[in-house]
Amino acid sequence: MQLFITKKIGKRTFNFVVEGNDLHMVVMESEHLSFDDVPACGLCGSTNLTLTARVAQNKYKYVSVKCLDCRGDVTFGKRQEDDKVYFLRKKEGGERGELDWKAYDKNAVVE
Ligand SMILES: [Zn+2]
Repeated sequence: MQLFITKKIGKRTFNFVVEGNDLHMVVMESEHLSFDDVPACGLCGSTNLTLTARVAQNKYKYVSVKCLDCRGDVTFGKRQEDDKVYFLRKKEGGERGELDWKAYDKNAVVE
């Protein structure tokens, strides 16, 4: 059994397929994508967003939503109790549901 999941990240649409033997399993699998659509950059309002993945120090795997205009990003976190469950980081103490967008820091990037 397959379940098709669509996430809108800015103006782009990402299609995911999860598989399982029965309805319970496919829904459990789909909950690994524990995040909502991201309509626009939280910093500049651009819809020119994409998903990026990288590995830092050869061990830490990051997935983020990146703004291609201001280069800000918001990183996915993984649940402590189940590291297959990805969610988008929220601002601590911010408004409810406000994503933790970080401005691009050119000093932090080693080209
Ligand atoms: Zn932006």
